[in-house]
Amino acid sequence: MFADLHLHTFFSDGTFSPEEVVERAGGLGIRALAITDHDTLEACPRGEKACREAGIEFVYGTELTAEIGGSEVHILGYFLDFNNSELQERIAEFREARQQRIYQMVERLHKMGVEIEAESVFDVANCRSPGRPHVARTLVKAGVCPTYDAAFSRYLYQGGPAWVPKTRFPSEQAIELIHRAGGLAVLAHPGLNKRDDLIEPLTNQGLDGLECFHTRHNGVQARKYSRMAGELNLLISGGSDCHGFSKNKPLLGKVRLNEPLFNNLKAAATRPAMD
Ligand code: AMP
Ligand code: ZN
Ligand code: FE
Ligand code: FE
Repeated sequence: MFADLHLHTFFSDGTFSPEEVVERAGGLGIRALAITDHDTLEACPRGEKACREAGIEFVYGTELTAEIGGSEVHILGYFLDFNNSELQERIAEFREARQQRIYQMVERLHKMGVEIEAESVFDVANCRSPGRPHVARTLVKAGVCPTYDAAFSRYLYQGGPAWVPKTRFPSEQAIELIHRAGGLAVLAHPGLNKRDDLIEPLTNQGLDGLECFHTRHNGVQARKYSRMAGELNLLISGGSDCHGFSKNKPLLGKVRLNEPLFNNLKAAATRPAMD
């Protein structure tokens, strides 16, 4: 088993630096990896440099938060051109929207008498892509909540008193953006969406692949999505979705894609677009 193509760093909601991801991946015998932070590529240049030094193949990636038919879906972009100006502009907009959302959530907490500041959340996040997990960690650090999970069950759960919905990008635009930046668009963890009916419409929007192998897919799901990928002529991807220590134990390398499937992705990315 060869590649882990779904990894987060502290540039989104993971806890590892890009260098730490690469060092750990090397220790696990991983030969190729993609850093796929939420709505950003900031970690990628550092990841690429560390991979080059470690003799690991690096894939420029991101995990875009998108929406189709009122449902949130995550679209992985692989083999992206980091210098694509449209991609960089959109990412700057996503970052701005994420920061505004933190101010709004902090404001809601203030109204409930919980005095944490947005600046503390940004400090905890140590990155420019903060989200609810960072608010939760700030609440724990400030002694407001005993645990990370308690912060969610008290304030931050979907529909909760401090929750602010994310602005979401239509899936069609996310897929087009990825394509215009030279990348492949892959639907992340379809098993978590529980909306298999969305896979065909996404395919009609230009989706290139399905993340069949994921930490939270069981064997039955992995086989089901691999079969669907075959039927819909989609590429097969896989990765652990490791967030370092922020969600559970590091999952790095727990789910890997074999070399032939990785090579299929690579071949598709280097082929000139047909549409
Ligand atoms: P955000 O993208 O800012 O809305 O944050 C989403 C992340 O928050 C998810 O990826 C989870 O890691 C975490 N999360 C969401 N709901 C819960 C929950 N009920 N308990 C713990 N973590 C959660
Ligand atoms: Zn995440
Ligand atoms: Fe995701
Ligand atoms: Fe992820």
